[in-house]
Amino acid sequence: MYDGWTHGVKTKCPKCGSDDCNDTIGNQTVVGIKVSAHVIYCNTCGYRKEELLKDKKTIWAEEHVKKLKCNKCGVEYSSPEDREFAEKMSKSWGESLRSDGIEPTGIAPCPNLTCPGELVVLE
Ligand SMILES: [Zn+2]
Ligand SMILES: [Zn+2]
Repeated sequence: MYDGWTHGVKTKCPKCGSDDCNDTIGNQTVVGIKVSAHVIYCNTCGYRKEELLKDKKTIWAEEHVKKLKCNKCGVEYSSPEDREFAEKMSKSWGESLRSDGIEPTGIAPCPNLTCPGELVVLE
């Protein structure tokens, strides 16, 4: 199916701005048509975009983002604002827990301030 990946470089993530983001293009034959498959995958926020190109035009595209779920109240957070909140909180929150000798299980605190839960990433 794959003719082999021809190009794989690090790029800047369009979602979180991380440099740890892979940009890969490969040739693929789908139902007898030669197309290019373009995949962006961010190792930091989990953003993934897949698209198929024919003659340099996008003929199909799909974006995946990770959903976050609170491990206490069970609420799912998947809007861009929620993920932005989690990404912003993640570092300082994790550091403050670790400085108290606690290893966080999630990536950020639950945005519901009355909830003691942590946000975990749903695959
Ligand atoms: Zn990212
Ligand atoms: Zn919660």
